[in-house]
Order: sequence, then structure tokens, then C-alpha cells
Amino acid sequence: MRSQLKEMPLGDQCDDTLDAQKIDELIESTRVKAEQYAAEPDRFQLSSLELELRSAHGNRLIIYEAGQWSCTCSFFEEWGRCSHTMATLLLLKDSLFTEQEEIHD
Ligand SMILES: [Zn+2]
Repeated sequence: MRSQLKEMPLGDQCDDTLDAQKIDELIESTRVKAEQYAAEPDRFQLSSLELELRSAHGNRLIIYEAGQWSCTCSFFEEWGRCSHTMATLLLLKDSLFTEQEEIHD
């Protein structure tokens, strides 16, 4: 497969119509590649993640790092899990982490 990137002019606007078509083709081939990757979740490895959740009692910061989940709420501090980290796992369940049912202590 030829590299379309190499054929893209940089700052040379001699043929706007052709340039626009090439850009469309590039974006389309990129979208197709993205769908292929998305269909193969095994290719992805979660390394770190940081989420802010607007909970019923204020904003919570949920962090995944070095294989561990954590949350800034006091419930997590006491129990090692909380509704916020559990909700995050539910949110991610159908994407990258189907094998990860439990929060690791
Ligand atoms: Zn929490």
C-alpha cells in the first residue's frame, strides 16, 4: 500500500480539489484502520487512567495506575472499593477490560 502521506503537498496549493480529495481518502483510510483496531481490543493495554466523576456528594477523582484503582472518597479509603470505582468498571466493561471483574486491592 502506497503512503498517501508522502503525496500530500505541504503548503503548496497548486490543486485544491485534488488536495481535498487526497485528504478525504487519507481520513477515510485512517477511519477504517481505527475500526480495525477497535475490533481487536486485545491490542490495547490499560496503563493509566484518570477520571473525574460528579457524584451525589461532590466530585471524585478515580485513578488507575500500576494495576491499581483508587478513588479520593473516604469510602474507598476504608473499604478499598467504592461506588465510583465500581461504576467506572461497569462503564468500561464492554470495552477494554471484559476480563477484569474485580477491583484489585
Ligand atoms: Zn469513591
